[in-house]
Amino acid sequence: MTVYRCAAAWVGDGVATDVDIVVSAGRVTAVRPRSDVVDDEVVELPGVVLPGFANAHSHAFHRALRGRTHGDGGTFWTWRERMYRLARVLDPDRYARLARAVFAEMVLAGVTCVGEFHYVHHAADGTPYADPNAMGEAVRQAAREAGLRLTLLDTCYLAGGLGDDGHVPLAPEQRRFGDGDAHAWAERWHLLADDATTRIGAAVHSVRAVPRDQVPAVVAAVGERPLHVHLSEQVAENRSCLAHYGLTPTELLHEAGALGPGTTAVHATHLTARDIALLGSTRTSSCFCPTTERDLADGIGPAVALRDAGSPLCLGSDQHAVIDLIEDARALEMHERLVSHQRGRFAPDELVTALTVAGHRSLGWPDAGRIEPGMRADLVAVRLDTVRTAGSDPAQVLLTAFASDVDTVVVDGRLVVSGGRHASIDVAGELDTTIRELWRDADDPR
Ligand SMILES: [Zn+2]
Repeated sequence: MTVYRCAAAWVGDGVATDVDIVVSAGRVTAVRPRSDVVDDEVVELPGVVLPGFANAHSHAFHRALRGRTHGDGGTFWTWRERMYRLARVLDPDRYARLARAVFAEMVLAGVTCVGEFHYVHHAADGTPYADPNAMGEAVRQAAREAGLRLTLLDTCYLAGGLGDDGHVPLAPEQRRFGDGDAHAWAERWHLLADDATTRIGAAVHSVRAVPRDQVPAVVAAVGERPLHVHLSEQVAENRSCLAHYGLTPTELLHEAGALGPGTTAVHATHLTARDIALLGSTRTSSCFCPTTERDLADGIGPAVALRDAGSPLCLGSDQHAVIDLIEDARALEMHERLVSHQRGRFAPDELVTALTVAGHRSLGWPDAGRIEPGMRADLVAVRLDTVRTAGSDPAQVLLTAFASDVDTVVVDGRLVVSGGRHASIDVAGELDTTIRELWRDADDPR
């Protein structure tokens, strides 16, 4: 047994002071007032201790685009051209090394579980690898080495886009994403298996990439497992979906049976009142990725309206323009302030819920994200003595702290980060080496 001694910890719906969190076999076994008579190992945690953060939406390889897409006009299309160029040079070995460093960066930021929305399945020309899930297995290995749990959201991606006249075939640079049809996707998907730190989930990339008649086969295969889908991130998606089907993307997914409490709509930026009502009444989660949505100029989604309609909110860092889930939680409130001209749209405890328990539920880990007996022992100590946080009320730390204020991270009872350093990985060094190597080859004119 290990006792984590906390001056302040987020227990239940608020901060408790002077508590001991007792951990055994990766689970919290007790949360009790501090006692100085303890036989077990005692670890003192600084600052305020929060439950583990869930990053509900990640594309690990997009991390290599950070700080490289703002020249040449810096438009969405600049970004996308760079993304495809990078995707071309990935293979399982490189993918594992890049994702390991990216996931380690996440753990440094307090993330104890990541949902990897994974669509780079095959070799660059679209040929399956000898193990058709070699790339997914690379992601699994990366998460294990980085020390966090993974929900592998293996993605069905069939079409190159949706114009007014219907779907277009995959472009050459998209061929490695595709399985042909939803049945072939499901056959490959069924070969993946859970393990102690990995859950297998699935994703419909978007209504742009998966035609309507293919969606029900994905939904049927997935059953009770997590299902994620990019939804209405850009206005153009709504326009072409309406033109072709006469339905909004949300209405299409509802008709296809894809909405429900096991489903998470990622972005949910440009919605009609009926879309919001459908997502809320079906208890579909909405995953906001504010730091990405502002980087890509997507817009600001109706977070308060979705919450009020009944949609649980969670958070993701998506393309990793930054990996700072505290900043994403804060941006949920700050973006609402900008559009509503009102403060206090989300209470601090609602931000904690989105960052922790709601994200874990969206990823299929209902036993994580709260500090209470029986739950997984995921703990994140955020310092209250840095230049950013000094003087803050611990209950409002999400409004002041940054990822760099995370001091200690415990995942399933294992100490993965302490003193702001990863236990086994030189994170900045590995990011630098791996990303430079990728771009050297991606920008090679051959
Ligand atoms: Zn995404």
